[in-house]
Amino acid sequence: MTREPNFLESVSRNFDKAAGLTDLPKGLLAQIKACNSVYQMRFPVRVGNDYEVIEAYRVQHSHHRLPTKGGIRYSQKVTQNEVMALASLMTYKCAIVDVPFGGAKGGVKISPREYTPAQLQKITRRYTAELIRKNFIGPGIDVPAPDYGTGPREMAWILDTYRTFKGDEIDAAGCVTGKPVTQNGIQGRTEATGRGVYYSIREAMSHADDMKAIGLTPGIEGKTMAIQGMGNVGHYTATIAQKEGGAKIICVAEYEGAIYKEDGIDFDALVKHRKKTKSILDFPGATNMKSRKDVLTVKCDILVPAALEGQIHKGNAKQVKAKIIAEAANGPVTANAEEILLKKNVMIIPDMYCNAGGVTVSYFEWLKNLSHLRFGRMEKRFNQGKYNDLVNKIEEATGKTIGAKEKNFLTRGADEIDLVRSGLEETMVMAYDQIRLIKKRKKNVEDLRSAAFINALNKISSDYLSLGIFP
Ligand code: GLU
Repeated sequence: MTREPNFLESVSRNFDKAAGLTDLPKGLLAQIKACNSVYQMRFPVRVGNDYEVIEAYRVQHSHHRLPTKGGIRYSQKVTQNEVMALASLMTYKCAIVDVPFGGAKGGVKISPREYTPAQLQKITRRYTAELIRKNFIGPGIDVPAPDYGTGPREMAWILDTYRTFKGDEIDAAGCVTGKPVTQNGIQGRTEATGRGVYYSIREAMSHADDMKAIGLTPGIEGKTMAIQGMGNVGHYTATIAQKEGGAKIICVAEYEGAIYKEDGIDFDALVKHRKKTKSILDFPGATNMKSRKDVLTVKCDILVPAALEGQIHKGNAKQVKAKIIAEAANGPVTANAEEILLKKNVMIIPDMYCNAGGVTVSYFEWLKNLSHLRFGRMEKRFNQGKYNDLVNKIEEATGKTIGAKEKNFLTRGADEIDLVRSGLEETMVMAYDQIRLIKKRKKNVEDLRSAAFINALNKISSDYLSLGIFP
């Protein structure tokens, strides 16, 4: 086995493995794989009495569809290499869930904890101004979103800066997604990635034959789950898997350590405990583990790495005892680790599908911004009227009266949140079916990541071929 690959090398190896299983032309594959535009910037920001030079990036991996799309990460670990890997994953991710974007990603090399909100605002506004100057942002050009270390607050600053420069653009609100709901955002975006991760696990576990092959019974209910990271993605994956799926969360890890509780951790209570004590440790009824990394090797049915890349590598992959790894983070399993895990018959739900819920709901938000219309506004009352007529007819025909509460439930028209969740669920279910079918039908495809890649490559190449660039 080779030395541990870096993130971009891991993505590249996975790409090559899948590309080798297709009969697409080599030149076309090379074009799909390449990062089209890499913008590296340095800009000064006044911090206290001095200036600090901030290093930042925006990478547009593929322009086969426009705009390009992908989050902005604030982290001390940001490098050009990392942002390129993340931008590449965005291209495949968008293709897999059929959202009409090319892939992109941004990174600002700072540790947000070390700055005040006012300083973070300055950095965000300056970064946005740099993007505007180089034509690297716009509703039809490149549309950022939250990622590790950023959230709705930063997205609101980006929109406001964009408007300062381009206030006359009618679609300006679509220049960024993941905005606060009150500022041109959409209901359900915050939970979207975690909810999508939950749907991906639920789908993967719904096939009895696939589960039998890894020694599990079908269904998520009662299965043990370990979560690495209580950030936005880990938080919502855990909450939704517990409340809607009946999963048993036995282990949680965060920055300060990891805890274990065999009969299940009440995740809401853990969130409260952490808010109060500033730590997940010493949670009533749970034991503190030796190291926060122990979460990766704990015995469980489903392991959800929801933090950063490169967490499971050739050094710890052999110790992994989970039967399923759901890649809520981007790139948590290195290419070397994957080889080991596949030999151990571990099912890996790959990042580019597993965490695509975020960009899916970003797509809905962008559509909302471009249409200048809230989902549900036109049809909700109309549908309610029709359902009411129907219920009245049933009452008439049966001679029975339906109680007011039940009637309200049956006749309710869909709100924005209902439509967003329904669209997200449909997207995740459809995408899983496609990937699974490729794995089942195509010779030599042994893992879900290769199947997902092949699905993405087929879709992207057909875009290129229809452009007439490649004969
Ligand atoms: N940062 C998220 C991701 O990695 C969301 C991207 C988006 O919504 O554009 O998928």
